[in-house]
Amino acid sequence: MQEKGTISINTENIFPIIKKFLYSDNEIFLRELVSNAVDATQKIKRLSSIGKYNEAKTITISDNGLGMTAEEIKKYINQVAFSGATEFMEKFKEAKDANEIIGKFGLGFYSAFMVSDLVEIQTLSYQDGAAPARWVCDGSTSFEITDGSRTTRGTDIILHINKDAEEFLDDNRIEHILDKYCKFLPVPIQFGMRTEHEVDGEDENGKKIFKDVEVENIINTTAPIWTKAPSELKDDDYLDFYRQLYPMSEEPLFWIHLNVDYPFNLTGILYFPKVKNDMEIQRNKIKLFSRQVFITDEVKDIVPEFLMLLHGVIDSPDIPLNVSRSFLQADSNVKKINSYITKKVADKLGDLFKNDRKAYEEKWSDIGLFIKYGMISDEKFYDKAKDYALLTNTKKENYTLEEYKEKVTATQTDKDGTVIYLYTDDPARQDAFVQSANKKGYDVLVMDSILDVHFISKLEQKLDKTAIRRVDADVADKLINKDDTTIPHNLTPEETTTLTGIFTKAVHKPNMTIEIESLSPDEFPVTITTDEWMRRMKDMAKTSGGMSFYGTMPDNYKVAINGNHKLVSKILKATTEEEKDQLARQAFDLALLSQGMLTGAELTDFVNRSVELI
Ligand code: ADP
Ligand code: MG
Repeated sequence: MQEKGTISINTENIFPIIKKFLYSDNEIFLRELVSNAVDATQKIKRLSSIGKYNEAKTITISDNGLGMTAEEIKKYINQVAFSGATEFMEKFKEAKDANEIIGKFGLGFYSAFMVSDLVEIQTLSYQDGAAPARWVCDGSTSFEITDGSRTTRGTDIILHINKDAEEFLDDNRIEHILDKYCKFLPVPIQFGMRTEHEVDGEDENGKKIFKDVEVENIINTTAPIWTKAPSELKDDDYLDFYRQLYPMSEEPLFWIHLNVDYPFNLTGILYFPKVKNDMEIQRNKIKLFSRQVFITDEVKDIVPEFLMLLHGVIDSPDIPLNVSRSFLQADSNVKKINSYITKKVADKLGDLFKNDRKAYEEKWSDIGLFIKYGMISDEKFYDKAKDYALLTNTKKENYTLEEYKEKVTATQTDKDGTVIYLYTDDPARQDAFVQSANKKGYDVLVMDSILDVHFISKLEQKLDKTAIRRVDADVADKLINKDDTTIPHNLTPEETTTLTGIFTKAVHKPNMTIEIESLSPDEFPVTITTDEWMRRMKDMAKTSGGMSFYGTMPDNYKVAINGNHKLVSKILKATTEEEKDQLARQAFDLALLSQGMLTGAELTDFVNRSVELI
């Protein structure tokens, strides 16, 4: 038998296009061809497929699946499953990677030409009386079918690797690609042989003698745990799998086994890692599979943004893998999957909280970050998580949102009925403020994670009549100021002006404004506060990355001089200008010091001046 022909009637030659433009992704040829081998093997429900490579600058993907007759080759290989060059070219202009095109146009097999000058098929069909067939194509639109030489059922795809793709002749490269895409395929995949040591008797001293034996090198796990029922699995199975996926990682906190078959099909395991404060590094740890074939670890759109911190696998044949981003976002299955995952995660956390609050609280420092992230970015998640999100105060006590409101309403409601939550984002630096607030019976929350500035805004927007202020935003008393009895300071207008003058000179910083305030005599003589709103804008600009308008603003501070403090009258009464200046500087430096803002030469100056004063 010999037959020649052309691959498709209405097509220009697409191979140069495939080769040239899809080059960056060319390793997926192996995924496509091995997947085809697996498909062929599964159809016949027997035995393994083998990915193999040899030294004649060829790679052979061999299977003992159902094979093809010459007729079938013509049908399935020659009639390339796309509707024509025009549409292809049209779509291709927008396509960003090979995945999009290969899948969309059913070009799985043709991805072989990304790396080959010549592709050969040697196949023998399972059908009774079938003759072996051979198909050869050099990447032009013409092909040749002749009698084949295969003697057992199955198919060999022989790739004559082209010059530009010789990297694929390297064993390590192939193993690496197989490991990436084929690690969990449902049929054993063999790549070459492996040497094992086998016990071969004992010597006269009773020591074991070993011999080397060559065994088939199977590169995959055919039944990964996500394909099994949760009831079959123990904690150790989940942990082992986690270690297999992320060898260098710390143990996960807990996990969720996803298993749904209606209205879409999805299985998977999501692990909650210990989240450090560096979320960027942790992203893109979820691997997306389709029927156990690895597709990508870019799960954006399929997994809600805030759950991108999770690790693990998702396997769904219902996710359209090979279409463009914008299409993916609009896809109804993807939307359903996205909200299903959100709901599962929210429910799991709710269960943990309900079933063992103590254990949950212990995990809070790890899971809090991503629960907050979820609450900030996803309304549905907020609605569930508001019942188990925790606020932690400086005494390390945890409260749910509801419990906390109940706790502080009596003591921290201002005259307008707004409950004021106080927080510190740096307990060490703001210790003076925290202590002062505590002394007055106010509670102070610790909000020091990188997300808290956003979380605080979210809470303010969600919680009724609640304002959240950093403990140094203004003196706590003034913030809460229930009875509106502002203590008038007993300075005359002239004294106020003089005092402002003295401090303006002593502070001499352009980004600090002096204000004489009427605070209780037992408050500090000088406090440095920041404008809550401006600081928050700046913080947000910082965590959202870009240099925004606020991000570039210098830090601005208010220096509040307590008009009722003893020291202030002492300054006013001082006899010489020099003494006034010294006392003012000292008081100001003390304020800087208590907030950790006194450094370098200024700190040295302060120490010297203090010594003089003593
Ligand atoms: P798809 O796998 O999406 O159908 P491909 O281009 O990858 O598209 O393959 C086209 C067809 O060629 C397959 O559907 C199958 O019928 C046939 N085929 C490819 N590889 C093999 C193989 N190793 N054994 C049997 N049939 C195969
Ligand atoms: Mg295929």
